[in-house]
Amino acid sequence: MDQHENDEKFMRLALNEAQKALKEQEVPIGAVVVAGGAVIGRGHNLVETLADPTAHAEMQALTAAASTLGGKYLQDCTLYVTVEPCIMCAGAIGWAQVSRVVWGADDPKKGYRRYSEGVFHPKTTVARGVLREECEALMSDFFAGLRG
Ligand SMILES: [Zn+2]
Repeated sequence: MDQHENDEKFMRLALNEAQKALKEQEVPIGAVVVAGGAVIGRGHNLVETLADPTAHAEMQALTAAASTLGGKYLQDCTLYVTVEPCIMCAGAIGWAQVSRVVWGADDPKKGYRRYSEGVFHPKTTVARGVLREECEALMSDFFAGLRG
């Protein structure tokens, strides 16, 4: 499987996580952390459920992955997330030294790139736009439902 196919496969798993958030009336964002071709952490947005503004999908997935590995660094890991990380999650990704970050939908309002592109570890690589349409549709349907 080439990297493009792998990226779509793991982004589908992140979308599955986002669907779980949706079922719980959370903003539908999901994330998985992958190492050596295996998922080692997954998570979805739990801000409302936990009444915790830090309970973003990426934070859940990073915490789970660090727990799986038994260490604070995720240097040989790829984080897949359905929406561009916010500045908080980007900070956590930086602390964990995640080697690669892949997201689906851009977030011009809350995405970290609006504030700083220097927050990741210097060796971290980024790919965006994987399954973008599906990631965007999930978000826009959710917010349309809130307005309707
Ligand atoms: Zn975040």
